[in-house]
Amino acid sequence: MWKRDDTLPIKVGNLTIGGGNPVAVQSMTNTKTEDVSATVSQIKRLEDAGCEIVRVAVPTREAALKLREIKNNISIPLIADLHFDLSLGFIALEMGVDKIRINPGTVPSREILRSLVLEAKDRNIPVRVGVNKGSLPDGYQPTKDGMVQCVLDYVKFIEDLGYNNLVVSAKSSDPEETIEANKILSSQVRYPISLGVTEAGGGWRGIVKSTVGLALVLNDGIGDTVRVSLTGDPVMEVKVAYEVLKNLKLRRYGVNLIACPTCGRCQVDLESYYLEVENALEDVIIPVDVAIMGCSVNGPGEAKLADCGVAFGKDKAIFFIKGESMGTFSPGDAVKRLIDYVKEEDKRSR
Ligand code: SF4
Repeated sequence: MWKRDDTLPIKVGNLTIGGGNPVAVQSMTNTKTEDVSATVSQIKRLEDAGCEIVRVAVPTREAALKLREIKNNISIPLIADLHFDLSLGFIALEMGVDKIRINPGTVPSREILRSLVLEAKDRNIPVRVGVNKGSLPDGYQPTKDGMVQCVLDYVKFIEDLGYNNLVVSAKSSDPEETIEANKILSSQVRYPISLGVTEAGGGWRGIVKSTVGLALVLNDGIGDTVRVSLTGDPVMEVKVAYEVLKNLKLRRYGVNLIACPTCGRCQVDLESYYLEVENALEDVIIPVDVAIMGCSVNGPGEAKLADCGVAFGKDKAIFFIKGESMGTFSPGDAVKRLIDYVKEEDKRSR
């Protein structure tokens, strides 16, 4: 099995994925790619949330021709997502994209794939062989083994053209199948794996489904880049990806919130304070553990162990920084001090 420390490093623009590099967070826009202004502004929001690679749909010639302008206005590597009309891939490469993704199930012919791969090879631009269970080519069973076999066959086709600047993926909307497929895949190829549960849905259901599918593979040392697929604003995909990676200790990024569920002992409106802190520290990028605790049972302990924290009591709260009490304040004042402290630290780190 090729775990992430041993996969081949593949350069995507200014970022290297695989080869033991930190698991990269990626997302995909849901704007019309032809609309440069909307697409760039969504990518900027993704960048602000910590997105490290972005993929855009390239369904039309007009979209392909806009890729250079999009790329010139963003800071992270740009991937062209190609289906059906692979002639658009040549334009995408000409426009300077950092990677192309092809889906075997939507490749119209081996001839055009061959030409496109050779063009990517000439430009040394990586290609992802991205298989989805929902769009497998004829002849492959819609199973984990069918998905893996499809990846392997197309990888072999590309390798036979003398090219191995590759990334692979096998995605199902079923987390368990995604987990199994990626475990098999990692035993067969050394290329970096782009991990994700596809079509996971939206809201809390999609988040849980994605988390299950990602965590059980990542925790086995498999997966070099992740995309959480959620119906809705893609910024949420980036946030969820970081939460998964942070909780597996694979990345440190932004605020890690520790808060109790409250119980009959709690004498403040903890949920309001929690939401206030969460909203205020939304854009923080330094890794910091912040505790918001309801009473003296676990409050002082958790608040001391975190980088900073507040342990509430009745009409008062103790504010801690790095295990030291900064004093007892009114609940609102303690929360304000905590927010100010984290924001100041974040500002200093930039
Ligand atoms: S810390 Fe206190 S308020 Fe919070 S759940 Fe525990 S006992 Fe209840």
